[in-house]
Amino acid sequence: MTYDYDLFVIGGGSGGVRAARVAAGDSGAKVALAEEDRYGGTCVIRGCVPKKLMVFASGYSETVPAAAEYGWDAQIGSFDWMAFRGKLHAELDRLEAVYRKLLANSGVTTFDARAKLAGPNTVVLSTGEEVTAKTILIATGGRPVVPDVPGADHAITSNDIFHLDELPRKMLIVGGGYIACEFAGVMNGLGVDTHLWYRGTQVLRGFDEEARQLIVDGMAGRGVKISTGLNVASIDKDGGGLIVTGTDGEDHAFDTVLFATGRTPNADNLGLKQAGVEIGSRGEIVVSDLSQTAAPSVYAIGDVTNRVNLTPVAIREGMAFVETVFKDNPTPVDHDLIPTAVFTQPEFGTVGLSEEDAAAQEPIEVYSTSFRPMNVSFIDGAHKVLMKLIVSQKTRVVLGCHIVGEAAGEMIQLAGIAVKMGATKEDFDRVCAVHPTAAEELVTMKTPVRTT
Ligand code: FAD
Ligand code: NDP
Repeated sequence: MTYDYDLFVIGGGSGGVRAARVAAGDSGAKVALAEEDRYGGTCVIRGCVPKKLMVFASGYSETVPAAAEYGWDAQIGSFDWMAFRGKLHAELDRLEAVYRKLLANSGVTTFDARAKLAGPNTVVLSTGEEVTAKTILIATGGRPVVPDVPGADHAITSNDIFHLDELPRKMLIVGGGYIACEFAGVMNGLGVDTHLWYRGTQVLRGFDEEARQLIVDGMAGRGVKISTGLNVASIDKDGGGLIVTGTDGEDHAFDTVLFATGRTPNADNLGLKQAGVEIGSRGEIVVSDLSQTAAPSVYAIGDVTNRVNLTPVAIREGMAFVETVFKDNPTPVDHDLIPTAVFTQPEFGTVGLSEEDAAAQEPIEVYSTSFRPMNVSFIDGAHKVLMKLIVSQKTRVVLGCHIVGEAAGEMIQLAGIAVKMGATKEDFDRVCAVHPTAAEELVTMKTPVRTT
């Protein structure tokens, strides 16, 4: 049977674009891709990139006053949101054009349309066109989930935050995961009176507890008002503002409410069941370790599979898919020991097991130090950093590394190499310190603070 394309990719985000252009460019496959919105997907258009630019913008409210402490005649003025927003969108337009060009230069045919399956080898586009492909790759990502509470439609999600016409004066952020904690720091840093409500006992559930505590202390110390054990019961409009009734029974006034309460895979209305693709209990496309679905000609990668929902993971899954299908080299993606950063203020970099998870698994030694870093020597009440290693008593292997503080994301990328290589505590100790740095503590901690 002949097909219109060797590969049809649905979704032009991190994973889909990489898979399409590598399959076309490296393997010479005839490839098409459909994107219903903007090329670049969540990461480029409404995720990592605009978020990180906002993190940078918000950081100046801390660094400019710090410059004054070092002797500079510097004082922070007001923040011009619309000036920033204009530059932000110009940058996103530039990046989207880069993504389109990468696809075109690799010889990928693109359709600016929504796509769905009409069978295991057939795609139907919102333009009405129908095309066939030997292999179909679904890379449709995910979208925010909003709780089903009265008035939820008055709130915004992370998709909307980059498009605000003005900064709120007082904002409520609901949730305690990556997005809630990152935007709490951003909005607070931009001068917004920022409140964060989390339904549980401590934000960033699942991460190392000592690190979480230091992050919460740092966020609160910078001015974020964090309430735990509190959720939204309902939201009502009140003139130009909002009245939020909490699960505490109290009414609270805010200008804007942001739900950062998780994301769900974009796996609905894709014609999956009819094509024989299995959907899991959390709405995700179920795949094998080679990203193959229950329909052998259909593969899926990235957030729509809800494995590890990070951009570099979607990209690696896309590359592994190309190796498997177009280079005759079956390549499962290794989801173990993935370093990650949460761009909270203070920043958090982490790889491997938390102290709690490691202790539940085997006897461990904990090496941990929390201190005021040198760059804040002149600044009163400045926040602490954390350097922490979790070590197996039996094998001496470093099972986890957790860093809280400036550039923690940069540091964990490098520490992640050692941890992924299976470095032992003694391997860390054999490395000479870089002085004076905060990270030198990672190779100079001699005595465990706890053994469990
Ligand atoms: P996506 O990038 O979401 O791309 C899917 C694409 O498919 C979208 O463009 C969508 O429009 C398109 N699409 C959907 N359905 C169809 C259809 N039927 N037809 C045609 N097109 C369709 N990760 C990090 O690693 N670091 C970070 O700092 C980070 N920050 C984030 C911040 C925020 C606010 C958010 C929301 C996410 C963040 N992430 C971050 C996660 C990261 O963005 C995702 O893991 C990543 O984008 C997933 O890539 P993907 O290719 O699976 O899907
Ligand atoms: P997360 O799953 O990380 O967090 C969701 C949060 O919302 C949790 O605190 C959860 O509480 C809470 N929640 C869920 N449902 C409700 C509800 N009905 N009412 C109140 N609270 C609720 O999702 P995010 O949306 O923050 O981020 C999605 C994913 O995107 C992340 O997991 C990550 O993979 C990726 N991402 C990565 C970033 C990075 O790499 N820096 C940045 C941003 C996103 P509970 O803990 O009780 O379940």
